[in-house]
Amino acid sequence: MREVDLLQAATKTLREGYTSRRQVLRMLPAGLGALLLSASDVPAADEHQPRAIATPRAPGAPKPAPPRHGGAPDQHGRAALSRPVFTLREYRRAVPGPAFPRDAVALTIDDGPHPVWTPKILRLLAHHHVPATFCMIGNQVLGHEATARDVVRDGHQVANHTWSHPTHLARKHGAKVSKEIERAQDKIYSTTGHTPAVFRSPGGDWSSTVLGAAANAGMVPLDWSDDPRDWSRPGTAAIRRRLLAARPGQILLCHDGGGDRSQTYAALKTVVPALKARGYRFIALDGRR
Ligand SMILES: [Zn+2]
Repeated sequence: MREVDLLQAATKTLREGYTSRRQVLRMLPAGLGALLLSASDVPAADEHQPRAIATPRAPGAPKPAPPRHGGAPDQHGRAALSRPVFTLREYRRAVPGPAFPRDAVALTIDDGPHPVWTPKILRLLAHHHVPATFCMIGNQVLGHEATARDVVRDGHQVANHTWSHPTHLARKHGAKVSKEIERAQDKIYSTTGHTPAVFRSPGGDWSSTVLGAAANAGMVPLDWSDDPRDWSRPGTAAIRRRLLAARPGQILLCHDGGGDRSQTYAALKTVVPALKARGYRFIALDGRR
């Protein structure tokens, strides 16, 4: 097979989501990988379009290490992606495993643990037998350790959402980004015994530096595809309407921390059973359901 044919076949395989980028790279002769990556960075037409990736460096900041797009992982990390994961399909491309059910949606809950809202949401999810992914802030785990452990005890997945939830993480230099990630990872692990395999940047603020730091820490960068903007307290009805617009394969964003989450909680009380009644299956990214 000519090189150009090999490259086209590999690009098609990647776009159709049958296998991971890393697996496809192993199929190719040396030297074709970089060509494939530049070709496959163009998203398929039906994929969610990501926000622009911010310029990774602030003026005067040290030059970060170049991102390792799809290359072999180092001893502790995984291959860096060129952009975060927005949908379940994209997640499955990044992390090979059994296909998610066609009617699956993933609920992600950010900024906790919170002593009031996290237990309420945990009771709600338990009542409906629904798993979720809790993106925890390290300095919120501090002081709320029992609540963090309750999340794991109830069978939910835990993700890393930095130590201090800095705004504009993508503008920080590499050492600062890595420290935010590693400090949170250490606190979550020492508290819950669970090592997060997923990282969410605060506000979905990504850069090649952030993507590389997540990869070095062994985590998949996770964004979302349905955002009710519940953090801005737009009213329970607005949150409910936006969440009810979810389609299978989407990653939903909600918050249990960062302030009064009564609107989020009230919306979830009706949205979770409504989506279940529609036939949707809530899953966690690690396959819990
Ligand atoms: Zn957040």
